[in-house]
Amino acid sequence: MPIPLLDLKRQYIAIKDKLDKAVLRVFEHGHFILGPEVAELEKKIAKTCGVKYGVGVASGTDALLLSLRAAGIGPGDEVITSDFSFFASAGVISRLGANPVFVDIDIDTYNLDPAQLERAITPKTRAIMPVYLFGQLMDMDPLMRVAQEHNLIVIEDAAQAIGATYKGCRAGSIGHLGCFSFYPSKNLGGAGDGGMVVTDSDNYHELLSILRVHGANPKYYHKIIGYNSRLSTLQAAVLLVKLDYLEDWTEKRRSHAKVYDAAFKGTAIKTPVAKDYSYHIYNQYTLAIENRDELVTALKEKNIGYDIYYPIPFHLQECFRSLGYRKGDFPVTEKISSMVISLPIYPELTVAEQEEVIETVKAVSA
Ligand SMILES: *Cc1c(COP(=O)(O)O)cnc(C)c1O
Repeated sequence: MPIPLLDLKRQYIAIKDKLDKAVLRVFEHGHFILGPEVAELEKKIAKTCGVKYGVGVASGTDALLLSLRAAGIGPGDEVITSDFSFFASAGVISRLGANPVFVDIDIDTYNLDPAQLERAITPKTRAIMPVYLFGQLMDMDPLMRVAQEHNLIVIEDAAQAIGATYKGCRAGSIGHLGCFSFYPSKNLGGAGDGGMVVTDSDNYHELLSILRVHGANPKYYHKIIGYNSRLSTLQAAVLLVKLDYLEDWTEKRRSHAKVYDAAFKGTAIKTPVAKDYSYHIYNQYTLAIENRDELVTALKEKNIGYDIYYPIPFHLQECFRSLGYRKGDFPVTEKISSMVISLPIYPELTVAEQEEVIETVKAVSA
């Protein structure tokens, strides 16, 4: 019996009636661009984050890109981010002509190590983009302290962390701008691409609302050069239905994580470290293991889904060669990227399936 890394069909079957109706309603009212569902979702997500505004955009990548633009980032600026993330976190910085500056990760959380943050700051630094990898926030108090001292804008890449908290504060609500992705594999996933920026700032809210419609306000009067980057009404309708289930799904992920943690205790496997300061939402259950190749072979043999998030640190990516980094610059990311592997943890995973995954993993880690 194959066990996929993620099975969205099971989720669909469970909430099919509501989803189908919500989608059909959009066809009936016909407001496909910035329809009422978008505004409703923006309000709801902002409210759950405890901030004033949400701005729906076309993807998580665009949430980051538009946030950087709203923050005024451009050519010659430097933006500090983690060396270990999905490509978008670094790519958006370069796309605006700015330079990403990478920082090595904490050995436990795989998030940017705050102790190494200060030495990455130069006179050109304008912003810091913490990434909440796999669903856990980084240690934000020291980061916010450094940001305040140096007058830097904080843009949270919370693409993998919707609903996660740090000392009770929601992901997205700690910095100046918080970015979410609704890519289907995220905890709150749409039926395609989508994203949102949340912010407490009237100014950023206005800028983002303009940036997503070609920089126009009013229509056809372009103050700035913007983008075509709106959250589709159809996506918003789907997401509104799913939002009601998010907490329950997250709890299921957390309980699967507990089962894995207990099962792998005492083996050579390094299980995810959930810090006391955080409510971890386990967008991924990512373990680290020395003989990863062996585990990959075993999982393939059993038809068990897995993925490697992420095999190459940013500083060693070909496209960033011109930044001048070298092998050895960030030893923790280099080591961890050679050891990580993510296992199925979707809410609908059955006990029998999880047992099979555990058995397979333990067979190569004894
Ligand atoms: C998914 C993701 C993004 C990009 O989101 P998209 O919606 O796929 O554009 C950015 N950063 C991180 C950390 C992500 O996981």
